[in-house]
Amino acid sequence: MPELPEAEYMVRRLREAAPEARIARVRVLRESVVAGALAKRARGCVTGYARRAKNVLMHLDTGWTVRIQLGMTGHVYRVAGAAELPRFTRVAFVLEVGGALVFEDARAFGTVSAVRTAELGEALAGYGPEPLEAGFRWQDLRAAAQGLRQEVKPFLMDQRRVAGLGNIWAAEALFGAGIHPARRVDGLLDEEWRALWRSVRAVLRRAIANTFRVTAGPEEFPEADLLRVGVYGRAGLVCRRGCGAVVERVVQGARATFYCPGCQR
Ligand SMILES: [Zn+2]
Repeated sequence: MPELPEAEYMVRRLREAAPEARIARVRVLRESVVAGALAKRARGCVTGYARRAKNVLMHLDTGWTVRIQLGMTGHVYRVAGAAELPRFTRVAFVLEVGGALVFEDARAFGTVSAVRTAELGEALAGYGPEPLEAGFRWQDLRAAAQGLRQEVKPFLMDQRRVAGLGNIWAAEALFGAGIHPARRVDGLLDEEWRALWRSVRAVLRRAIANTFRVTAGPEEFPEADLLRVGVYGRAGLVCRRGCGAVVERVVQGARATFYCPGCQR
């Protein structure tokens, strides 16, 4: 499932592969992923690509922005030819110069819509702060949990609290901070918030860098284990920190959580 690093990777790749792309027409191959009128509104010249939470945004010179919510399996990238599109293409933005920007989504839980750029802030207002932004301080992470009593892992995955973290990187951030995933947010000490904040930023930055390092092309993502995860998916294996404990798997909020009982308290 795409999280912040994957979305960021897509955006950076698009900036390299299709700067100032001119969209001549839009082919919708699966109506159910499109919200509202898209075909007419998504034509024009792309003036920039951006990311907010797990959304890929394509700003157009027409005053519209194409918003792509990646869902479970969504992926946006440029293909050289538009005649034969990748198998799970749901929407293709056909470029004037040839080729297309494709939204591929095997499970088809993503959505593509056109939003007036001036109204984008409002459309995205439900998301919490961006953890990699320079102005994001440890106090902001603590403030996002104000008044909550939930466990820290589902808190980290809640896009309304902090944007971009999913199951893998929430688990990694907690491992890095030495915090047990079932700890309640109202019980975390300031030094733990500081450690968690530092860890969230570190794991996300590392994930983005490692994605570029190990990925052959923009159309594919590496498996989590290639991204040198510390704890995710490692149930039954010895902790990479060398504490001697064995990584455990529990189910938390219907999602698998991995943690080290030796390092995470
Ligand atoms: Zn350990």
